[in-house]
Amino acid sequence: MNDLIAQVILNVPAKDGIFDYSIPEELIGKIKTGCMVVVPFRQTYMQGIVLSLNDESAVSNLRPVTQLVDEMPVLTFAQLEVAKKLSTRCLAPLSDCVNVFLTEKIRKISEDNYTLVKKPDQKSISDEKPTEKESRKTLIRERLINLFPEENSVLAQSEIDQKMEGVNWKNAMDSLIREGIIRKDPFFSLPDNKLPVRRVAHLSATAETIESEWNALSRQEKALKRRQELLLCLKSTADGIPVTDLLRQTGATQADIKALEKKHLISITEEEAEGDYTGLESDTYPGSEILLNTEQQKALEMIEQGLKATEQKVPILVHGVTGSGKTEIYIRATEQAIAQGKQVLVLVPEISLTPQILGRFSRRFPGKVGVYHSRLTDSQRYETWRKGRNGSFRIIIGPRSALAVPLNDLGLIIVDECHDDSYYQTERPPFFSAVQAASDYAALGDAQLVLGSATPTIAQIFKAQQSKWEIVRLKGRASGISKPTVKLVDMRQELKSGNRSVFSRVLIEELKETLADKKQAILFLNRRGSAGYTFCHACGHDFRCPHCEIPLTWHQKQKKLCCHFCGYTESLPEVCPRCGEKEIHQFGTGVEQVENLIRAIFPSASILRMDSETTAKKGSYERILSQFAERRADILIGTQMVTKGLDFPGVRLVGVLLADVGMNFHDYRVDEHTFQILTQVTGRAGRVDVKGMAILQTYQPTRYSIQAAVQGDFDSFYKKELAYRREIGYPPFSRLVRIVISDPSQSVTEKKAFDLSEEIRKVLHSESHRTTNVIGPAPCFFPKLDGKYRWHIILRGPNPTDIIKNVDTKTVRVEVDPPSVL
Ligand code: ADP
Ligand code: ZN
Repeated sequence: MNDLIAQVILNVPAKDGIFDYSIPEELIGKIKTGCMVVVPFRQTYMQGIVLSLNDESAVSNLRPVTQLVDEMPVLTFAQLEVAKKLSTRCLAPLSDCVNVFLTEKIRKISEDNYTLVKKPDQKSISDEKPTEKESRKTLIRERLINLFPEENSVLAQSEIDQKMEGVNWKNAMDSLIREGIIRKDPFFSLPDNKLPVRRVAHLSATAETIESEWNALSRQEKALKRRQELLLCLKSTADGIPVTDLLRQTGATQADIKALEKKHLISITEEEAEGDYTGLESDTYPGSEILLNTEQQKALEMIEQGLKATEQKVPILVHGVTGSGKTEIYIRATEQAIAQGKQVLVLVPEISLTPQILGRFSRRFPGKVGVYHSRLTDSQRYETWRKGRNGSFRIIIGPRSALAVPLNDLGLIIVDECHDDSYYQTERPPFFSAVQAASDYAALGDAQLVLGSATPTIAQIFKAQQSKWEIVRLKGRASGISKPTVKLVDMRQELKSGNRSVFSRVLIEELKETLADKKQAILFLNRRGSAGYTFCHACGHDFRCPHCEIPLTWHQKQKKLCCHFCGYTESLPEVCPRCGEKEIHQFGTGVEQVENLIRAIFPSASILRMDSETTAKKGSYERILSQFAERRADILIGTQMVTKGLDFPGVRLVGVLLADVGMNFHDYRVDEHTFQILTQVTGRAGRVDVKGMAILQTYQPTRYSIQAAVQGDFDSFYKKELAYRREIGYPPFSRLVRIVISDPSQSVTEKKAFDLSEEIRKVLHSESHRTTNVIGPAPCFFPKLDGKYRWHIILRGPNPTDIIKNVDTKTVRVEVDPPSVL
């Protein structure tokens, strides 16, 4: 007999939580891998996911599966396989990896079911006059009992909650259970989804009827005007307008709506409010009549071939400058995949989940696009999940969390801005790269993989070349508009000429001109990266670790310069060792400070600020973007968030306040980050109809990453950087594993870190892994987070996970291939 045993993964912290259960006769053939089931576990019941079906088990006397929650798997086969792969790749518990593929709403679904065992006879209720409290309780008891139509009928907890809305019925229920009148059993089911509904107004009368009623809408002059306005507004669209929007647009009141409804001129429908998918209304895209250029055509043909290929598909890396028309390629490829009956997963970086890419896809594929991201509610995400799973959505767009949507017809995975570090999950285990996961996912799910970026990482290009992926280069802007002119300003010269401001003279001049021309400007400040960056204001000299060649950072508290790689510290010299200048600066200008300075210089300009503070509220990120896109502001000042794939036609000028490599200085990827950020941010200028200009201010004008960004010369940067990596033995020529030890006590943290590194060194020694080395332990760049001290150990070698496979790392954080070591 086959497949009588289900291997089930439970979310319990035991041996990876995998257990065997027998499959009862009535469920044979119904339970498939990826299905959610309920099984007995110790004294209770738990939900779990079927990992595999087998015909034998090492364990005898298996207990049977209790319930099949849903006949349709909640994870596809490919998702399950990726989860397994993640678990070995990242040394993370399988249950954590399975959780990556479970939408929140189904991670914990049990609820209680109540059965009326026996109706109590009325007499048993006491004759004595009850106190008020008692009578209230009796009342609740009676209401509860009356909810059940008859003996043996069953009600779910949520049903009772709904019917007893606002009543605390648990105590009364408990006493009924104690008396044996009602029985409680655990019950599991996928939740129903109740999305919030919104009211939408539509015109419901003919033009003639409206015409004839036009002046009789109200006897009152003001109300008449409002109601006419409202009808005009509705006339301009065929789809109807949400009532809240309509009221805002016209200044009309609910009473106006009611009056028009009464006259049967308009009707109100209730529609499920889907996610707030787009925030940008302005449609600047010409749409499908765009004629692809030769390079785009070539990329599309490759993807087409891949979609049709029956054997192993070759991943495609689309390496195209900003504005080269990558998104257009994604859209065409999606069209093809959909025409072949396939589903498409489009991954975008967390923060640049721009309303823009969503807008473009949903306009091109109305009704077929589901969005899945953290700014939606659980219910909205669950809705996308359901519609992706049952196939009514053909395209899912979202950041790495969108991997959770089961796509049975998956045929194409697109990873946009594939260089972005936010693809790496750092919040909770597993610590993994979604780009890597997408690549596994495509291979295991027989889907075509497309990675796209203007600045793929050194490792990605290297990997693509080594693995013989297809690489498509798009070197020019699709719209034919030339790339922005990039000007480099040497801030040391500014200082010599007496300008001590954070703005160079040329930047101020260009800002003036931009404002005079009624164009827009973006000012970019890499604040997080630049805080603590210490350098000589006069010559630009920065301080480096004698062992690691990595810039040292200033720690105000200890009053020391510190290497975050090896732990080396030194004091700050009185004068610059290179030029003797006394002014050694810690760059620490904040976004808000820049905003104030700019306001003082340009009092009449309208300015938007975008940083973690102004975007903390739900929807504020979208709001700022749409205000800027609609040209309701002249200058946008911000951090990293302004560098991502945004496409603003009105932007002429981009200013980078400090382009220095000091950003992310603790890391071997400093120059790569610098090059990427500068390339991305300068690409925001002059996207469509204006000739753009970018100004990079720096104290390191000769630095190769800055030079390459100014010249837009990816190839020479790649060559230099790759040679540097080979020389220092860093990825892609080795792999890293970073172990972070944290504890509220400093001494415990330190001791643990030293003990662990000792243990690892022993393993290295005994297994003579001479090609792997251990760096540290050293305090992390952020030495204390959330009240815990942090130290780390870094392993570098061809296969560093091998070394710690058998080391107990349960109480520490293990990051495999981390994108940074902050
Ligand atoms: P990317 O994703 O590489 O930044 P987009 O796809 O957003 O580039 O294209 C940039 C701009 O060029 C968009 O406004 C787009 O509509 C336009 N565009 C794309 N392809 C073409 C083309 N073949 N001809 C003309 N315009 C194009
Ligand atoms: Zn060092």
